[in-house]
Amino acid sequence: MSAMKRRYSASDVALAQFNKAIGYLDLDEALVEYLRLPKREFIVNFPVMMDNGRMRMFTGYRVHHNTTKGPTKGGIRYHPDVTLDEVRALAMWMTWKTALMNIPFGGAKGGVQVNPKELTRNELRRLTRRYATEIGFLISPEGDIPAPDVGTDPQVMAWIMDTYSMHRGYSTPAIVTGKPIAVGGSRGRIEATGTGVMFTTMETMKRLGMDPAETTVAVQGFGNVGSIAALRMWEQGCKVVGVSDVSGGIYNSRGLHMGELIAHARENGSVIDYPDADRVNNRELLTSECDILIPAALEGQIDEIVAPDVKARLIAEGTNGPCTTEGDAILLDRNATFIPDILCNAGGVTVSYFEWVQSLQAFFWSEEQIVDNLRRIMLENFEAVWETAQNKGIDMRTAAYTLAISRVVEAVEARGIYP
Ligand code: NAD
Repeated sequence: MSAMKRRYSASDVALAQFNKAIGYLDLDEALVEYLRLPKREFIVNFPVMMDNGRMRMFTGYRVHHNTTKGPTKGGIRYHPDVTLDEVRALAMWMTWKTALMNIPFGGAKGGVQVNPKELTRNELRRLTRRYATEIGFLISPEGDIPAPDVGTDPQVMAWIMDTYSMHRGYSTPAIVTGKPIAVGGSRGRIEATGTGVMFTTMETMKRLGMDPAETTVAVQGFGNVGSIAALRMWEQGCKVVGVSDVSGGIYNSRGLHMGELIAHARENGSVIDYPDADRVNNRELLTSECDILIPAALEGQIDEIVAPDVKARLIAEGTNGPCTTEGDAILLDRNATFIPDILCNAGGVTVSYFEWVQSLQAFFWSEEQIVDNLRRIMLENFEAVWETAQNKGIDMRTAAYTLAISRVVEAVEARGIYP
């Protein structure tokens, strides 16, 4: 584990953002404590039988941050660096993200400390079924609905859906979102986060007077979120000059052809050997000449070392928590504009909400209905954040937090404190 990763705490970042926002709200101290603390946290150590006939132990987590507005919603991450601290932060971000989108969910997150690339498909299936069984008492279509995150995909969701269904004795598609269409998945879910990044970025560009034809974009991370966000921005006429993945990056000031690059990455497993571009490393990508930077890899990438060299004037946060508290402050000082993660990448959870509704009703929408509703919800809430930022003279992140927290507070007050 690198020195940077040891220092970085996603929960510290999430709490610093929360603490900054509550400074603009007049809330009772005990209520602040209630909103700050996760409702419940679950750690489980469980065995999985590997293909070589040996047992191996794994550690998994599921955290429910806040359940006031409805069932909790949040992805499941398979990554070797997953910790309770990270899952706790991601669960809290989900509470604010769903509240900000005005969708009737609370926030949750789960994860298993594992490198899924080191497991065979059968090992991954057994690990998923065991983890799904271990968290089985926490998840349900009415209580807590998982979704994919880094290292998990529609196949993993299908295994969770199947495991839960086998235990119930009947098929329960609404237990997860981000599942394959064959078992009740939604059209448009795979592209939803990247498409939402584009909606909020184009809207911000309009407000800042940026012409797409003269705008350059760099994207860190070329997975689900990064590749679709890059493609969508390119379709809107922006020049995508740089992209990267875990193996490194590429840059061409004349622009990259997104259709060809996506095909290249699919065939070769990485963007790095794409012809007609210079090789750059991930730091060089983050600090490259561009107007818009879209971080779409992992948390904590833009810290106090990287931030002073970032050239972009607009940062569209495809990933959750891409900036450390210090990185964020440095860029705000330089008058950079942030489209904060809980707004920018909320397209995924919004279409997950559509998927859950469709699964519960067993009635499915067209792709056009999905994209129209996604655009409407994202732009309505974008407008609310923009107005709040302008009216209060605060940055977009703090504006988004104050709005989201106020909506949860309204729900807490309407319900009252039990008993
Ligand atoms: P993914 O696994 O599909 O893609 C991740 C990409 O980041 C890959 O290209 C990978 O090579 C790259 N990457 C990994 N480590 C890197 C590093 N150290 N430096 C540079 N690149 C690196 O994941 P995804 O679904 O695209 O998610 C990306 C981020 O967006 C995650 O933080 C996730 O929590 C967040 N997010 C995802 C969704 C969604 O719907 N998928 C929704 C909201 C937020």
